[in-house]
Formats: sequence, structure tokens, C-alpha cells
Amino acid sequence: MTTTNTHWHNFIAGEWVDAKESTQIYNPATGEVFATIACATKSDVERAISAARACVESGVLTDCRPAQRAELMYRIATEIRLIAEEAAPLLCQENGKSLSDAKEEFLIAARYFEYYAGMADKIEGKSIPLGKDYVDFTYYEPVGISAQIVPWNFPVDICARSLAPALAAGNAVIVKSPEITPLAMTWLATACTRAGLPNGALSILSGPGREIGAALVAHPQVNQIVFTGSVATGQSILKAAAEHATPSVMELGGKSAAVVFQDADIDEVLESVRWGIFFNAGQVCSAMSRLLVHKDRYAEVVEKVAALAQDLSVGAGMDNADLTPVVSLQQQQQILDICQQAETQGARLVCGGKAPDRAGYFVEATVFADVTPDMSLFTDEVFGPVLAITPFESEEEAWQLANATQFGLVAGVFTHDLTRAIRASRALKAGQVFVNEWYAGGIETPFGGIGLSGFGREKGQEALYSYVNTKNVAIRVTAENR
Ligand code: NAD
Repeated sequence: MTTTNTHWHNFIAGEWVDAKESTQIYNPATGEVFATIACATKSDVERAISAARACVESGVLTDCRPAQRAELMYRIATEIRLIAEEAAPLLCQENGKSLSDAKEEFLIAARYFEYYAGMADKIEGKSIPLGKDYVDFTYYEPVGISAQIVPWNFPVDICARSLAPALAAGNAVIVKSPEITPLAMTWLATACTRAGLPNGALSILSGPGREIGAALVAHPQVNQIVFTGSVATGQSILKAAAEHATPSVMELGGKSAAVVFQDADIDEVLESVRWGIFFNAGQVCSAMSRLLVHKDRYAEVVEKVAALAQDLSVGAGMDNADLTPVVSLQQQQQILDICQQAETQGARLVCGGKAPDRAGYFVEATVFADVTPDMSLFTDEVFGPVLAITPFESEEEAWQLANATQFGLVAGVFTHDLTRAIRASRALKAGQVFVNEWYAGGIETPFGGIGLSGFGREKGQEALYSYVNTKNVAIRVTAENR
């Protein structure tokens, strides 16, 4: 495959495979089709499974010294770094994100491989004392075949986030790419091939989630599922997983709140709002979609946030605009409908709320104030550049408002009172709490949710243990030779 291709294939067991049916890929900045990709069939799923099973059974990834697997992972990282420049425009075109963010996404993907390369030879078991008559130890075995379902908002980053620890632990992986942004992530297959990943250790299938994704996760030979996407799809995958008791990691949505206290540095807040809700056009699971502001700073924050939103340049990702288009016409319509509904329910529209008058799937940077917990804008994920601001009076009320949704992915607090920040970290119901900077943390820090945001953790050392099974060996030591 090259970046000038207009028709893309599935990657199955080391080969690029075409199909009868294909999907059109739109450029959200123009609304025009610029490429097509082959739709995998159910027999492609079977082929990928057979190749993955053969890879697992051959021991090619597990019989070697783990340090050799680490070297392979480092080589993959190097190959990803080498293709980042060339492949980033494709991600920018299919997703709409800025070119600089697209390049960064490839570099983050490389970092995942480097990070887990460093862990590949440190997956160490424990020795458990049971007294003189026993020797007991545990070791970690790869799960086997990991099926990974990727969403469209950060396809390269999220694909690498699960692929890297799975391979580092010695598994074979079958990835289902998102229907609308499947192209750039095929470059990860190219990087893996160039680095010498054995055939069968990775397949990437494109095609409709309800057919190909569903066939993959329901397959009896799949040993683990990692799903990143919407709550509704996650729930349907969990039902399928129940059939074979397939262990699953669920990275779902969010409606995350930042709490701004009287002593907050408002410049820090504004910088975090800029990235927290307008980066990637707000299509981030851990977006700062709610801002809870102490009443003493409320009017000031609403005014400054509105000024920031109106100051963002709007344009195509290739032009590195601040606010890029949302991913699809459907996504644009959904966001505009939610804005309309918020106004109907009584939220105060401070700015935005419409599609700007231009081609492509753009939505204005939108700020609503006076949003109350009974409004759907307070509780439901928008997945667009739409911020809901709510005032509060006391710390207790702030925690109660922040926790008043069914999600629990991340949360944040802006204060320079350290004891209050610690209280926040305990009171906020989320998998990760940011203090004075939204998106603080990185690939080294465990990430995942509670409640409807899902379960299991990605990133950090903790994630690796989702890709292995613990085996305990308990040995009775006989008193003397018989
Ligand atoms: P989605 O649920 O519509 O699709 C996600 C993936 O699931 C796609 O690849 C799709 O083809 C596949 N799929 C659809 N139906 C399936 C089925 N029945 N069986 C198997 N696979 C199926 O989600 P989306 O619209 O692509 O992504 C947006 C959502 O993802 C948002 O809710 C967002 O919050 C969430 N998300 C979460 C994280 C996280 O790490 N927690 C990260 C990014 C996105």
C-alpha cells in the first residue's frame, strides 16, 4: 500500500486482501469521497482467526527469549516513526483532524510500542511462600487471540494502545477498524511487516461493525476482546462475549467535568478548555465536556471561555486550523440536534450552536451556560465541540454535580489548594483525576472508566496484565526420595 492509493485492502496474515464490496471514505473537510476500502467478509474473519491460531500454536512469539520480542517491538516503533510524515495526511483526510495532530498520533503510536517493548521482558511471576512442604509460583501466559475493536476518533493511537501491549505479551491480534476512518491505521500493519512481525500475529479487517465486528467478537476461538467505542455497541459486545465467557476490556464514553474553584488560575483553566473540548473537534472520550465553576468566578469564566471559543480558527485539518470538522455528516447532524435540544430545555447559548456557512462537516465552537442536571446536555455525551457550564456554591455541591452522570471516565479540578485537590481526587468518581491541567498524564498512566465508561484499564503497566492469564503452580515437596 502507498499513501497515493485510492483503493485500500484488508490486511490478513501478512497479505493485502481485496473484496467484492467496498466502503467509500469521505473527507470531512469537503464532504467528498476520496478513497475506498475493501469490506472484509465473514470468511475473511475465519481466515484471520486461523492465521492467528496458527501463530499462537507455533510459539513463534512465545518460545523466544522475551528480550527478542522486545527488540521486535522497538523495530515496529522505529518503522512507525519512519512512516509518520508520509501517513499523517491520510489520517487528516479521513478523520478531519489537523495535520499536526495526525502526525502526533503516529508518534504516540510509536511510543506505545517503545513503552511496552520495555515491559516485554519484565512480565514476571511471583513466588508465594506456603511453608517447607510446598513450592508455589505464578507465571503469566498470553491469552492467545486478542480481538480489538477500534473507534474513528483516534484510530491510529487507539489501535496501537491495545496492539502494543498485546504483542508485547506474546498474543496474536485481530483488529477491526472503524468504518469511516480505516485507512491510516493500515500503516501500522505496514510498519509491523517491515519490522518482521510474523504473519498471522496481526490482521486488520475493515467493514461494517454489526457484521464483521460482531462475527469477530462472537467467535469461539477469540480469547479476549478489547473494545473502544460507544456504550450501546459495548453492551451488545458484552452480550456476545457472555456466550463464550470471553474476558473483555471496555473503553466507553464519558461526560467528564472539570471543577473550577475560586482560587483557580483562570489562564490554566482556559488553556485546558481549549484542549479539553475543542481539540479534535471535541471528539474525545475523555473530553472536558462540562465545566463546573464556583459562583464567584462564574461570570468571568463564561465570558473568557466564550471569547476563546470565538477566537479559534475554523478550517481543514490540512491547514492546521484550531477547530477542524467533525468526522461525518451524521455526527454533525447529531451534534446540532443536541444543541437545539439544549436550547429548548433552557440552557443559555453563549456562542456557536450552528454549522458555519461552508462546505464540509463543521460545527461552531459552542458554549452553553446555566446548564442544570435535569438537561440532557448535562448527562449525555455529545462527542463534539460543545461545552456545558454550570455554577456551584460549595465544595460538596461541586462533587455532587460532577458525579451526577452515569459515566466515570476522567474528571478534573482547578485549585492551588493542595488539600482540596486531594479531597477532589477522592470525591470525584472517575478512573483518572486531573489537577490544574486537563489531559495531564500520558501513555504511562492507567486509563479507563467506571460506570457506563466501562471497565479494565489501558495504558501504563497495568494494561499489560489484561493481555495475560495468571497461572499458579503449587508443588508439594516430598520429605525424602522414594
Ligand atoms: P461505535 O460504538 O459506533 O463503534 C466502535 C467500533 O465498534 C467500530 O469499529 C464499529 O465498526 C464497531 N462495531 C459496531 N457495532 C459492532 C458490533 N455489534 N460488534 C462489534 N463491533 C461493532 O463508536 P464510535 O462512534 O466509533 O466511537 C465513538 C464512541 O467511542 C464514543 O462514545 C466515545 O466516547 C467512545 N470512545 C471511548 C474511548 C475510551 O478510551 N474510553 C476512546 C475513544 C472513543
